[in-house]
Amino acid sequence: RRLLVGATALHDEGDEGMIAVIVDVTDLRRLESLRRDFVANVSHELRTPVAAVRSAAETLRGAVSDPNAAVRFIDMIERNAQRLQSLIEDLLELSRIESKEFRIKRERIDITSVFHIVVGLFRERAERKQIRLEMRIANPVPALETDQRALEQILSNLVENAVKYCPAGSSVTLCAETKGEMVRIAVEDTGPGISEKHLPRLFERFYRVDASRSRELGGTGLGLSIVKHLTEALGGKISVESQIGKGSTFTVQLRASNWGAQNHVAVR
Ligand code: ADP
Repeated sequence: RRLLVGATALHDEGDEGMIAVIVDVTDLRRLESLRRDFVANVSHELRTPVAAVRSAAETLRGAVSDPNAAVRFIDMIERNAQRLQSLIEDLLELSRIESKEFRIKRERIDITSVFHIVVGLFRERAERKQIRLEMRIANPVPALETDQRALEQILSNLVENAVKYCPAGSSVTLCAETKGEMVRIAVEDTGPGISEKHLPRLFERFYRVDASRSRELGGTGLGLSIVKHLTEALGGKISVESQIGKGSTFTVQLRASNWGAQNHVAVR
C-alpha cells in the first residue's frame, strides 16, 4: 500500500511533543491512475476517426471531378463520423450512470414484453446475417421489479454483441428463469466464443479481444462496461461463460420481485 507520512514537532508552554499523520493514499492513487488511463484511452479512440475524417475530406477536395472516388471518400467520412457518434453516446451513457443524479426506478416488469422489445430491435440485423434470434422463458414466467429502461439497455448491448460477433448460421437466445430468490436472464450464443484468458478483463472499459475487428464492426469497447455498471446499479450481478468454438453466455442475475408476497400479506 502507499502511505503518506507527515510529522511536526510541537512546543507548547514548555511541553514538547510530536504529531505524526499517516494517510493511506492507495485508493486515491489507484483512482487517479484509472482516471488518467481513461482520459488517455478516450483521446486515443477519438483521435483515429477524427484523423480519418480530416484526411478523407482533404482528399475529397482533389477528387470532386471524379464521382466514383468522391463517393468512396464520402463513405469514409460517414463511417468515421458514425464511429465518433457511437463513442460519444457510449461515453455520455457511462457518465449518466455514474452521476449522482442517476436514479433507478422500481417498476413491475413483464419480462416477455421486454424480450419482445429487444428482439424487435435486432430482428432485421440478425436476419440479414442469417442468425436465429430466439426467446426461452421458463414457466412460471419470472416476476421482476426493476428499471425497465435499464434492463432493455443491458439486454440490447448483449444481443448487439452476439449478433455482431457471431457468424451466419449461429443462434442467439434470450433466456429467463427463476432460481430461488433470483431471476436469471441470459443471452446465449453459438458464436466464436472467447478464450478464458480474456474473461476476467472483459467488462473493463475499452477492453477488446480483437481491437481491430471490434472497430471494424463499429464497436466502441464500452458496451460491456455499460452493461456491468447498469446491472450493479440494479443490485444485480453479471457473469460470462464462454468456450472457443462453442459460444458465449452472458448472465444477469437480479432479485425476483416480491410483489406477489406483499400482495399475499395485504390480503391476509
Ligand atoms: P465492443 O464495442 O468492442 O463490442 P464490448 O465492451 O461490448 O466492446 O465487448 C468487449 C469485447 O468482448 C469485444 O470487443 C469482443 O471482442 C468481445 N465480445 C463481447 N461479446 C461477445 C460475444 N457474444 N462473442 C464473442 N466475443 C464477444
